[in-house]
This record gives sequence, C-alpha cells and structure tokens, in this order.
Amino acid sequence: MNVLVINAGSSSLKYQLMNPETGDVTAKGLCERIYIDGRLTHKVGDKKVVKEIPMPTHSEAISAVLDILQDAEHGVIKSVDEIDAVGHRVLHGGMKFSDSCIIDDACIKAIEDCIPLGPLHNPANLMGIRACQAVMPGKPQVAVFDTAFHMTMPPKAYRYAIPAEYYENDDIRRYGFHGTSHKYIARRVAALLGKNEFKLVNCHLGNGSSLSAVKDGKCMDTSMGLSPLAGVPMGTRSGDIDACVVQFICNKYGMSVDECLNMLNKKSGVLAISGVSSDFRDLEDGAANGDEKCQLALDKFCYEVAKYVGSYTAALNGIDILTFTAGVGENGPETRQAICDYLGFMGVKLDPEKNKVRGKEMCISTPDSSVQVWVVPTNEELMIAQDTAELVNAAK
Ligand code: AMP
Repeated sequence: MNVLVINAGSSSLKYQLMNPETGDVTAKGLCERIYIDGRLTHKVGDKKVVKEIPMPTHSEAISAVLDILQDAEHGVIKSVDEIDAVGHRVLHGGMKFSDSCIIDDACIKAIEDCIPLGPLHNPANLMGIRACQAVMPGKPQVAVFDTAFHMTMPPKAYRYAIPAEYYENDDIRRYGFHGTSHKYIARRVAALLGKNEFKLVNCHLGNGSSLSAVKDGKCMDTSMGLSPLAGVPMGTRSGDIDACVVQFICNKYGMSVDECLNMLNKKSGVLAISGVSSDFRDLEDGAANGDEKCQLALDKFCYEVAKYVGSYTAALNGIDILTFTAGVGENGPETRQAICDYLGFMGVKLDPEKNKVRGKEMCISTPDSSVQVWVVPTNEELMIAQDTAELVNAAK
C-alpha cells in the first residue's frame, strides 16, 4: 500500500510517499512559498531536485507534487492510481476527535468548527485537504489530529481551574499536542516491552517540546494545553507562565494581547534566556565555551523537564519506562544526562556509554535502574500513514 502523507502549513506543504507496513519512504519533499511564487524540493533516496514552480494556491502545490511523483526522471510511480490513500496532519481536533477520521463533509465541517482553537494551523490543513480533493477526486483521505491521542485524559488533567462556563460554552481546556508522536512512541514501547500494560513518561524534546504521561497505552496527562505554548520552555516558546506577566507587560509597554502572545511564542524560551539561539546545538557550543546565558538556558530547560517527569511519576503512582524522542531527545546525550541527574531519587540510572547514542533506538539505563530509560526516534509520518491505512482498509 502507498500512502501520501501531507502536512500543509499556510505557505508550505511537506509530503512523504510511504509504505505503512514497512515504513519505507519512496519519496519525500517540500513545497515552499505557496501564494508567493513556489518552490518544490523533492528527494528520492540521496537524490535531491529543486524546482521553481508557480504555486498560486495549495492546489498547484499538490499538482506539482503529483507531477514530480510521476515524472520520468525524478518520479517513483507511473500513475496517481498507485497512491492508495492520503493522510493529512491536522493540528486541532478540539473535543470532536478522539481518533483519526476518514475525510468526508462532516469531518471537514468539524475541522472548520475547530478553527477558533487552532486559528493558524487548521485553515492551512483544510487548504491541503481541499487541494487534494480537487486534484485527486474520490481518493480516500484521512485526517490525523495532533490532539487526538490526548483525549483519554481524565477531567482532573484536562480541566482548567477557571469558571466552568468557559469549558461548557467555549471548550476551553487542556488539549495537548504532538499527539501523533506520543502515540507512536507509546506503540513502539508496547512492541519493545512485548506488553500493553506499562506506565510511561515520554519526553518529546525538539524545537517544540511536550511530555505525556501514558498508562496502558492511554494518555493520562500532557504538558501542552489549549495551545502549544504551555508546558516546558521550548526553542522560542516560554512554556508555562503566570497570566499576570501578560497583564504587566501589556500595561507597561502598551502591547496588545496578541503582540504579547507573539512574543511568548516566538521570542521566548531558550532563545530568550540565552540571547543566542533557539537551537540546542548552538546552546551546547556556547555553554562549552563558557557562555553563562547558554548554560542557564540549558539548565532551565532540563530543570523544567525533570520537574514534569517528577510530577507525572507522582500522577501515575510510579513509572516503568521513560523515553526521549525528537531532535533534542534523540540527539542530546548531555541534555538527557542533565534531566536524569534530577531523577536519581526515584532510582533512575543512566549508562554513560549507552547514553552516547544519537538518533537510534536504544535502552540507555543500567540494568539496576528502577526505570528503563530509552531513546526512541519518533516517526510522525509513519503514524499518520498507519492510521490512514487502518481506517481506509476498515472502510473497504
Ligand atoms: P525537532 O523540532 O524535533 O526537529 O528538533 C530540533 C532541535 O533538535 C534543535 O534545537 C536542534 O538543535 C536539536 N538537535 C538536532 N540534532 C541535534 C544534535 N545532534 N545534538 C543536539 N541537538 C540536536
């Protein structure tokens, strides 16, 4: 089976053509500068081609993707018929979606209804869906939501302690994001342990970071909230912050709430503390050269991640396994070590040799560690392809 995985942003569109059973990626790429001019970067194995192609809308971008997938020189399929289904990443499923969904009129309406919750991403995701419908009419399509995995959280985890009317009338609650990644890791851990009953804290640490507490494959709590701003500090996001900080800054500097939120999303996090970069490699280089602000940014990040691991361990009444994934989680031995240094009280012990691993699945704890610690590379595209295949096959 071939699934075309699409992640549509407002002016970009990432794609992968993959086999959901094997995880083999036949081709992948990126359309950029949609609505401006249009550039396609297409990769097959090690071969890369970049083409300037006019993309006045997402439809032309999807057409360009289908053309290059069938291209005599750079293509991997002879006809669009070889694409069995399309899987779309959709940011916000609100309270309407606790699972992935075959795209039909009702699904599209429900994604539209979630636009107030995901005002930047959902409209772009819908443009990708509509573009595929236009250029591949009748092709089965599935929406995979970043929030869906977290819908098993109990009310004590997802409710905010604010007047009930905001929840009841406006759906204001914790949703959580990176759900496709957290779900992939939970499934991978079940496969690694050979059982479905386990208590897991997964640390998805990348440019955006979130943690989730998972019991028997179900999400019990997660660190992001109504939006991806909440939780641990990130590349450019502040993470959890006292709402009075917003009031203070808006009043003192005459900023609108939107301007202040833009600052908290785009100019904060480790970028703000270091004053150097949002990229952890730059921070590690800076800290190694004696830059105290870079060191503080790393310290702050590891401290807050460790605090979440501790609180989720309490929430789950102990954990069996701790996983690290995404750019920093998979590739940052120093960060993993610094986080685990806080967790010695609960018997976590890393093997320093094994913890040198980068980008590979491996148990990095010692045999006598009370909690198994693993690096598990995430694969959100594969999770989207698998969900798509599952739903499309079930509907046949
Ligand atoms: P992601 O959002 O998952 O792509 O992760 C991006 C983050 O991962 C950036 O801050 C990178 O600096 C970090 N990262 C990627 N590779 C490495 C590496 N080899 N060592 C440390 N951090 C890395």
